[in-house]
Amino acid sequence: MPERALARVRPGAVERNCARLRRALGGGAELCAVVKADGYGHGAERCARAALAGGASWLAVATAVEAAELRAAGIEARLLVMGALTAGEMPLALDAGAEVVAWSTDFVRALAEHRGRRPAQVHVKLDTGMGRLGTDDPREARGVARKIDAAKRLRLAGLMTHFATADERGDEHFPAQLERFSAFVADMRAEYAGLVVHAANSAATLRDPGSHFDMVRCGVAVYGLDPFGRDAAEQELEPALELESYLAAVKRFKPGQSAGYGRRWTAREPTWVGVLPIGYGDGWRRGLTNNCDVLVGGRRRPLVGTVSMDNVTVDLGPDTEVAVGDQAVLIGTQGGERITAEEVAERLDTINYEVTCGIARRVPRVDSP
Ligand SMILES: *Cc1c(COP(=O)(O)O)cnc(C)c1O
Repeated sequence: MPERALARVRPGAVERNCARLRRALGGGAELCAVVKADGYGHGAERCARAALAGGASWLAVATAVEAAELRAAGIEARLLVMGALTAGEMPLALDAGAEVVAWSTDFVRALAEHRGRRPAQVHVKLDTGMGRLGTDDPREARGVARKIDAAKRLRLAGLMTHFATADERGDEHFPAQLERFSAFVADMRAEYAGLVVHAANSAATLRDPGSHFDMVRCGVAVYGLDPFGRDAAEQELEPALELESYLAAVKRFKPGQSAGYGRRWTAREPTWVGVLPIGYGDGWRRGLTNNCDVLVGGRRRPLVGTVSMDNVTVDLGPDTEVAVGDQAVLIGTQGGERITAEEVAERLDTINYEVTCGIARRVPRVDSP
């Protein structure tokens, strides 16, 4: 029996993508697989395990709850919470044995008050030009590091920054950020031993080995999505997710008959229209109204009419050979055809990250070989 809407996730692809990323790392740099936002919509636990099997030695998430969930699932790898933490969230992260990021002495003071079983491992974040988390003042970052180093219950574990434009090949901001960070790292290494220094996201990892330092933090590439928004195959990455539904109904349309809310599409000629029970309540966004293709019977068919919460309609053409119950692929391959998350993202004027993260919880994720 087909499911109304289903995401097939291939842990094998995640594993191979990690192995491919590992091969790109020079000088013994480690791979940290970023599994925040439920593994970019793919399922955090399965992807964490697959990434570790593929050679990742660290994991990273954005929130304390995400860290606690991985630990509750029995995952024991070194785990970094990259996001900001409130005083209320901090104990959850630390009790999960996760490492955390600091950029202010106030935060370090709060960390030092936590009574955990083990000393907390803390990474200092320098904002070299992302303009988001971190201090943009290297002296302040140094001061934060000194406070961590001086605190009995804290360990200075690493230094980090984050790039704003690594996915824009040839831009000048990326090398400028890298230079600022490198200078900071050189100063700090002279003072502290054993720091894990990390900066690169997926795009930087693929673009510039000079950004690898001791570890890279790859997210999107782990899932076989192209950080440059092009074809992941160009980077030898394998998409790990397919999104499918099925033909719940097929009906004959006469010219002038319309499909969906607001009559945003009307048949011009006699045709067959298929109904797929998937909609924006599943994360198939309303912006795809009259604006994407779906694979049915091994061919591309235009999605026609308004995307509703639970259903969409597709134009199957005048003499269709498909029938109720047939599989429909929204992201993935069927026959010789392929629809990528990058293609859907382009239709929506967004990025592949948002397409897979947006697949709603009511879509079951199942492991696929
Ligand atoms: C999400 C995130 C990453 C991973 O970025 P990708 O582009 O998905 O590889 C790395 N570092 C930080 C700080 C992040 O927030």
